[in-house]
Amino acid sequence: MPPGATKPGQTSQTLPSGRVIVPAKQRAAQASTLSEDGGAQAGVPAPRSKRARPDVSSFWQEGHRPELRNVAPSEAHVDFPAHDREFNRAEAGITRVLSDAKHKTIGRMADAVANALKSGVKPSEIAFRRDPNLHQAILGEIQKTYDFGRKQAIAEHARLMQRAGKVTKFADYATGFMLADPAARKPPKSLIVTADVAAEDFENRLADAARNVANDLRAKYADDFASMDAGELADQTFGAIDDYAEGFIARAAMEASRKAMGAGRKDGFDEVGDEAADAGAVFERTEMVDSPNICDNCEPLDGEQGPTYSSVDEDVCEGGALCRKIITEVFA
Ligand SMILES: [Zn+2]
Repeated sequence: MPPGATKPGQTSQTLPSGRVIVPAKQRAAQASTLSEDGGAQAGVPAPRSKRARPDVSSFWQEGHRPELRNVAPSEAHVDFPAHDREFNRAEAGITRVLSDAKHKTIGRMADAVANALKSGVKPSEIAFRRDPNLHQAILGEIQKTYDFGRKQAIAEHARLMQRAGKVTKFADYATGFMLADPAARKPPKSLIVTADVAAEDFENRLADAARNVANDLRAKYADDFASMDAGELADQTFGAIDDYAEGFIARAAMEASRKAMGAGRKDGFDEVGDEAADAGAVFERTEMVDSPNICDNCEPLDGEQGPTYSSVDEDVCEGGALCRKIITEVFA
């Protein structure tokens, strides 16, 4: 399945809110926008969310992304530019980790393919060694995003309470939240799984590509590898896998950073949950970038409110988690 494609057999679903989500039909323009680079193309104009955002955010400054300048009244306590920065940092960090790993991994795989072909091992039976450091490198990046999201959620809660004139025991977070809570936390299980999935998916995709290349080479040379140089075979294999691997690294980086941000924010809201419930707060889904990144399924949910975090956390994104959805605490 190409990145950005709608899953085969995906049908309409009715959300807990009663809204019915119909998977978008083929839209060539959007499909290409969401495929290779997640839609971060220069020159793509026009916010897509139709929700009114009449207020200028107090967190927005000259130099921040123009799409983040305006907010809905319910979003006034949310620092969107800071989230934007963290998303960008995390995506760049994970992209760097995977790009660094790519060369080493493909080199290892190309050698394994060349040796297998020379010794008559079937491509489907070629075993590839895993990179033991990849998981930890990805986890290092998304742990920062998780911590950021968790602290931001608590800070937002504190600001919301203060603006409503309510007492909060999390007041320290409202301003200096980066200084507060200095204790490093062990990564939660969900984050370890996210890093595992990202590392495994990366290596599995390259391994599949390597086996396909091996099959192509068997056809091309009619299985006559006896006279061929192993180094030459490895070079041909390397080039073919490398061509294939371009595309999916950026997407993997976006998916992992979004999951980490969501996990951190959810855990932060869990910590302030009792106080929020006592104050009568609810949760609201917001597409923070309000940009062309929003897919057709997420766009109508922008601004949806529900009694709990998970009630507005439906995973309907047809962009494979490319939309920068976050869930905020608000007063209905
Ligand atoms: Zn979406």
